[in-house]
Amino acid sequence: MNYYSLNKQAADVSFKEATIFGQAPDKGLYFPRTIPVLDQQFIHQIQSYSKQELAFRIMLPYVGNTITEEALYEIVAETIDFDFPLVPINTNIYSLELFHGPTLAFKDVGARFMSRCLGYFSIGQSSKITVLVATSGDTGGAVANGFLGVEGVDVVILYPSGKVSPVQELQLTTCGQNITALEIAGTFDDCQAMVKQAFMDADLIKHMQLTSANSINVARWLPQQLYYFFALQQWNEKKSFPVIAVPSGNFGNICAGLVAYLSGLPITHFIAACNINDTVPNYLRTGTYQAKNAMATISNAMDVGSPSNFVRILEMFKNNHTQISQIISGYSITDLETISTISQVFNTSKYILDPHGAVAYNALEQYLSNHQNQKGIILETAHPIKFPETLESSIGQLLDIPDSAKNLFGKEKHSVLMNADFDELKNYLLSR
Ligand SMILES: *Cc1c(COP(=O)(O)O)cnc(C)c1O
Repeated sequence: MNYYSLNKQAADVSFKEATIFGQAPDKGLYFPRTIPVLDQQFIHQIQSYSKQELAFRIMLPYVGNTITEEALYEIVAETIDFDFPLVPINTNIYSLELFHGPTLAFKDVGARFMSRCLGYFSIGQSSKITVLVATSGDTGGAVANGFLGVEGVDVVILYPSGKVSPVQELQLTTCGQNITALEIAGTFDDCQAMVKQAFMDADLIKHMQLTSANSINVARWLPQQLYYFFALQQWNEKKSFPVIAVPSGNFGNICAGLVAYLSGLPITHFIAACNINDTVPNYLRTGTYQAKNAMATISNAMDVGSPSNFVRILEMFKNNHTQISQIISGYSITDLETISTISQVFNTSKYILDPHGAVAYNALEQYLSNHQNQKGIILETAHPIKFPETLESSIGQLLDIPDSAKNLFGKEKHSVLMNADFDELKNYLLSR
């Protein structure tokens, strides 16, 4: 499989190059030349495959011959080495729980797959690859955990001091080894701007092989389609295929779901569930795309005003707004609606949603009320314990702390303090 740049001013590359470069030299996102169409027989028998076998078969065409089949099987098996249960909330709505990985959010799968691919590609290379990433919370922990101990790869994570939750901060500052956390006296936007500037800095590019680890990178983006296959593997409703509601920020996850759909996976409809950052719901309604500045909400991983993967969705449907709005509906949910959804679902079903899952639940419920004979799935993207204050006030009781979070407390935080100043970052990177 080759990948082309959506800006169309750069040469096609292999999966290996796309993973190492992250973004094309013309600043475009990479996109697969073709989306493989799966055999209908295979889809029909999806329940007869183990999740490892399924994941291997789905990822193989995207990776092509850049990784041996044996190594790829091992990479996918390690990547998905935890549960993805489909849990009923009520008679019409199920939750696909994507938070059973080591850092309790769905980003583990993409980060684990990408880290193992980069580790594989760095074997025999003389120079190290440096992964530079800015985080507002969940990405940092998933990337730190996924890349910990991967040889030939150094990871530098920038996070805004005092603006991530205690669990999130411990997840990115307690790893050690090849993981360094830079604690920036500034905002997430400052961190992101410093990282972007680094990728464009001629000195840095000359001295080190830099790559990104957000969903721009195909190795982080594409494995997210596996969730949708795991959902269908567990779908036993006979009357119809599911409507799937995806809590969306940068639109990497839902965009991966659309790849699965175009490959032939039977999904009735997609719901782009957003908080008040409603750039895409507005586009779906009006046909006009107008990026905005992000506003802060309680579902903070979706506080994005200019979603980077949206251009991939446009590409898939050749910019056809009619087609796009036939397959995706958008909803924008306020914080007050999110909180009342968490308490209402807890009171009626005893199911505990996190704020991101609650946004999806509210959107799906609205959609289903107009489509009476359909049933749906929300992707539950984070464990509620990542948002203890919101949750405990919404449901009126304390949450159980899972072991992976318990283990973090008592570990020592290590971070390098830095001003929100690109020259400081540059000097630091060059002097390592
Ligand atoms: C990152 C994240 C999202 C948004 O996912 P995108 O792929 O950026 O749309 C939603 N929920 C949680 C918990 C996240 O960490």
